[in-house]
Amino acid sequence: MGLISGRVFFKILAFLCFIRLSQGRNHSATPDLPPLRKASSFSKIQHEAYDYIIVGGGTAGCPLAATLSKKYKVLLLERGGSPYGNHNISYLENFHICLTDESKNSPSQGFISTDGVINSRAKVLGGGTCINAGFYSRANRRFVKDAGWDEELVNQSYPWVEERIVYWPKIAPWQAALRDGLLEAGVSPYNGYTYDHLFGTKVGGTIFDEAGYRHTAADLLAAANPDNLRVLLHASVNKVIFKTRHGKR
Ligand SMILES: Cc1cc2nc3c(=O)[nH]c(=O)nc-3n(C[C@H](O)[C@H](O)[C@H](O)COP(=O)(O)OP(=O)(O)OC[C@H]3O[C@@H](n4cnc5c(N)ncnc54)[C@H](O)[C@@H]3O)c2cc1C
Repeated sequence: MGLISGRVFFKILAFLCFIRLSQGRNHSATPDLPPLRKASSFSKIQHEAYDYIIVGGGTAGCPLAATLSKKYKVLLLERGGSPYGNHNISYLENFHICLTDESKNSPSQGFISTDGVINSRAKVLGGGTCINAGFYSRANRRFVKDAGWDEELVNQSYPWVEERIVYWPKIAPWQAALRDGLLEAGVSPYNGYTYDHLFGTKVGGTIFDEAGYRHTAADLLAAANPDNLRVLLHASVNKVIFKTRHGKR
């Protein structure tokens, strides 16, 4: 691994392991979502009050908005547009087009990290799940513990996501060869198909279905209470002003 760093190697490996050829088309139907409105429509609804305002309708923002809306009034603000109808997002074979699209309405935005790595970040409802390689795995238990999260609640949350947008991949011959190569190189044990974060080699989940159609975090908004959730697109937040009860900033 002399030429590339371990982190880059892992990313390439994860990408190679879970990209597979698409098997056909099922043109998966758009899920039944709350209305996705443009921010420019906000002037008509500006007198509404919200319990929570979420900035960024990405991988975390969408499920957060959906679950909070069960009990609370929620406003979700996303700077990008809708992922629905964009074939560069939806179809696996267009993965590279999406990442290299530099047009104004591109769902991805190129940037160079502070340590000089060329990278992309999302600019679309659904966030990173619209532009990423689609590999899905549950978190390392140690990570959950160190973060101080409620392990039981985290474990309950996994199936909520998995039953909506996660699939088992069909393994192409070259992927089987890679898996076998890892095992031969001693990356063991072989854990088979599992979402769990385990030592060794495994086949994890993917957000691409059997037809190679991408399911994103935006789909999770279908689980929201539409009466309690307002979603605004092309809504870039530039400044957040906090006020105390007495109106002081
Ligand atoms: C090429 C690539 C491949 C990857 N592959 C995988 C993979 O296979 N598996 C995996 O688990 N992870 C992968 N990742 C990482 C994963 O996608 C991210 O870690 C994850 O999406 C981050 O989620 P997030 O909710 O923190 O941010 P995001 O999903 O990026 O959401 C942030 C959202 O906030 C919006 N936003 C930002 N600023 C504003 C603003 N001022 N106002 C309004 N909205 C705003 C953005 O438009 C975006 O929609 C990959 C990432 C990349 C770039």
